[in-house]
Amino acid sequence: MIRFEKVVKKFGDVTVLDELDFDVRKGEKVTIIGPSGSGKSTVLRILMTLENINEGVIYVTGRPLWHEEKNGELVAAGEDHLREMRKEMGMVFQQFNLFPHMTVRRNVTEAPVQVLKLSKEEANERADTYLELVGLSDQADKFPSQLSGGQQQRVAIARALAMRPNIMLFDEPTSSLDPELVGEVLNVIQRLAEEHDLTMLLVTHEMQFAKQISDRVCFFDKGKIVEQGTPDEVLTNPQEPRTQEFLKSFI
Ligand code: ADP
Ligand code: MG
Repeated sequence: MIRFEKVVKKFGDVTVLDELDFDVRKGEKVTIIGPSGSGKSTVLRILMTLENINEGVIYVTGRPLWHEEKNGELVAAGEDHLREMRKEMGMVFQQFNLFPHMTVRRNVTEAPVQVLKLSKEEANERADTYLELVGLSDQADKFPSQLSGGQQQRVAIARALAMRPNIMLFDEPTSSLDPELVGEVLNVIQRLAEEHDLTMLLVTHEMQFAKQISDRVCFFDKGKIVEQGTPDEVLTNPQEPRTQEFLKSFI
């Protein structure tokens, strides 16, 4: 579903992804862990074409994501192509990023109506389905500011799902939540992982959660994968000193 081949990403002189090779298979649940600044968010942002790259090739569902060279960068090209690629992937951000002036329902129906050209009725049906899935059927007419952080993040998940993506990307979805609200969001993600055929790529510091839901855990440091394997291999019996050092801070 996803393949990075020798991808280089620089910000100025700083190399953030260093010839990164990375694959995710269909239906696989992959967790990325690693220190702050190691390039985790950049991987997801590149997939959503929110960042360009400098070198390498990226494939999403077998199709290359990058085309044109412009000023030494490889720029995602072609509006139609990008629109198709974005339909494959939904992303949930650390800071929910809901539309503050829209109701919960409108937040969920907006992209299906605007991008997928669904009728209002069809989009509303989808909103009902996915708001129920995240346990927020009774909050549809509220505005984001009237909800708790955990509820807002669950709306963000419903909004992403309403586009029926094949791939879901989560970037530290619980990092900005009060501790007592983390569980309700993780529960929703866990249900998605268990009951749906989605391919999932998740950045998180919730190690116990990563253990439960991941097929594979990748430890990133300095723009490279230092170690990867089953949750047991990487989180319980890490082989690399850098992984061991990193995990010490979570005990
Ligand atoms: P992580 O998510 O692992 O904490 P990021 O992928 O956000 O790391 O960032 C990797 C590195 O790239 C960091 O050193 C960060 O400061 C830098 N970086 C990220 N975005 C930008 C940007 N827009 N401009 C300059 N540097 C950036
Ligand atoms: Mg990050």
